[in-house]
Amino acid sequence: ERESQYDFVIVGGGTSGLVVANRLSEMSDVTVAVIEAGDSVLNNSNVTSVTGYGRSFGTAIDWQYQTEDQKYAGGSKQIMRAGKAIGGTSTINGMSYTRAQNVQIDSWESLGNKGWNWQSLFPYYMKSEGFQVPTQDQISFGADYYSDYHGEHGPMKVGWPKFLTNSTVLPALDESFNHLGVPYNRDVNGGLMVGLTSHPNTIDSEANVRHDAARAYYWPYQSRPNLKIISNTHANKIIWGNDSDGDAVAIGVEVNNINGKQIIHASKEVILSAGSLKSPALLELSGIGNPDILNKYDIPVKVNISTVGENLQDQTNNGLSYEGKEFWLGSPTFSALPSADQLYGESFYTIASNVNSSLADYAETIANSSNGALKASNLLAVFQVQWDLIFRSKVPFAEIVFLPIAHTFSVEYWPLLPFSRGSIHIKSADPSEPAAINPNYFMFEQDLTTQSDVAWYIRKVFGTRPLADLVGDERSPGLEHVPENASDSTWNSWVKANYRSNFHPVGTASMLPRNKGGVVNTDLKVYGTKNVRVIDASVLPYQLCGHLTSTLYAMAERASDLIKRRYTF
Ligand code: FAD
Repeated sequence: ERESQYDFVIVGGGTSGLVVANRLSEMSDVTVAVIEAGDSVLNNSNVTSVTGYGRSFGTAIDWQYQTEDQKYAGGSKQIMRAGKAIGGTSTINGMSYTRAQNVQIDSWESLGNKGWNWQSLFPYYMKSEGFQVPTQDQISFGADYYSDYHGEHGPMKVGWPKFLTNSTVLPALDESFNHLGVPYNRDVNGGLMVGLTSHPNTIDSEANVRHDAARAYYWPYQSRPNLKIISNTHANKIIWGNDSDGDAVAIGVEVNNINGKQIIHASKEVILSAGSLKSPALLELSGIGNPDILNKYDIPVKVNISTVGENLQDQTNNGLSYEGKEFWLGSPTFSALPSADQLYGESFYTIASNVNSSLADYAETIANSSNGALKASNLLAVFQVQWDLIFRSKVPFAEIVFLPIAHTFSVEYWPLLPFSRGSIHIKSADPSEPAAINPNYFMFEQDLTTQSDVAWYIRKVFGTRPLADLVGDERSPGLEHVPENASDSTWNSWVKANYRSNFHPVGTASMLPRNKGGVVNTDLKVYGTKNVRVIDASVLPYQLCGHLTSTLYAMAERASDLIKRRYTF
């Protein structure tokens, strides 16, 4: 049995993990190892192709986690995709680069995460970004930006695809949305996201290939002698030494690969970056979690944190499509991000007040379904923040993605801030066994209604000229399935029969004060441990209005600085 020793051992060479590996290995006197279950995808054309979205789904580089039966959503299971590769989910994702609404990040601080706010995170969005100023040609096709919002010197290339969609689409969308009271937003990446926009992607515009975490943060730095990726290797659990000052001390990680089991020793820290559907399971396998769950599998309790794996939040995605009257070429990057008042018009106040009066019920229901692992009072505090964001700050309420391609104009959409909460927990002490993943999609009638309301709104958008002139018949759902004046229940049935995961799971090891249900503190350190952190989508305490990678890059950049500060004095 071989053994090896590094200062920092990072579990998961994905979106967040590679940022941390890169930044920590800038300290030339420390060694960094990254344990990654997947392999290099540098030359995998399903990854590199900028028009290949979806091609890697179901292949060896997709974990394709299966959920439990979704009892509020028609009963069937869902697939939650995630990348299994050097680069993680950034190698299979949709490449959209949108950040968050400023007040949303500020609310992290107001819930007790001192130091985490828009102003403190913004420089890290810039630091990670290598913005590629669009060409005159791209600008004439709709690429637009404010240079103040972008960093041009960071590793992650951000820009527009080489071939953008016909220049007639964006003006038509703009005029139609103007009639509906939704403004044009030249650049959603400055913290104000509401409106119609043509957002950039994580893409190398010059080479016309996907820019993922590995291409940005690892491959150009692979020759650093103090940075090592141990690929095709599955991490099983953390190995503990003797406690220090009552805190658990990690001394390494047990891994499994073609050579069998071995321990990778960590003399300074173990950092979990295995993603929000894996990091909480690794904590449980290591004895950090809810004793009721750990006891079931005879795992000794190292730290009692009952909220590990709770708070799982994803969004739900449905699609509509229309017959196109034009022929569209090139890659579309158009999204509309209407706020709730724009979407609901006169019903806004009724909905706001109905939701407000349900918050206590939601909190109670979720606390009960967690068997007491979550406290209703903590959930209520978060729900009140969420309500304020939606109905008072009027952050974007839904994202609508427009995909005019060839002879079809399709749309994907997802409400951004659902109230449903689920969980992910181990089902066995065997690390190779899958976990029980239960997002509880449409746990609350309100989330289902919202999903239907947005579809109804999209129909209205496509019925508004001049956009209406660009399309013919609605193909999906189609008026034969969901007629013009369909009832709520018809819409709801369509939603449930056709929805999918939006692949944005967060919250399963939330950054919050411990007495408010947190798993990690503001240094992203796991409570009750001396030297274990979680740095990935698990720590986002709740859903964002942007796509996740930009914020994960920024968060991992900031976390790396916090760690470095500790070791460079
Ligand atoms: P990951 O990037 O998933 O990294 C986790 C890594 O850990 C993986 O490499 C994994 O193989 C490894 N790992 C897991 N378990 C183990 C283990 N036991 N041992 C060793 N290694 C392990 N976001 C956007 O910003 N824009 C988009 O357009 C977009 N579209 C998306 C489309 C899809 C299909 C999906 C799935 C996601 C999309 N997202 C998008 C979301 C975004 O990509 C993810 O939220 C983000 O990449 C997650 O980063 P992470 O660091 O949390 O985890």
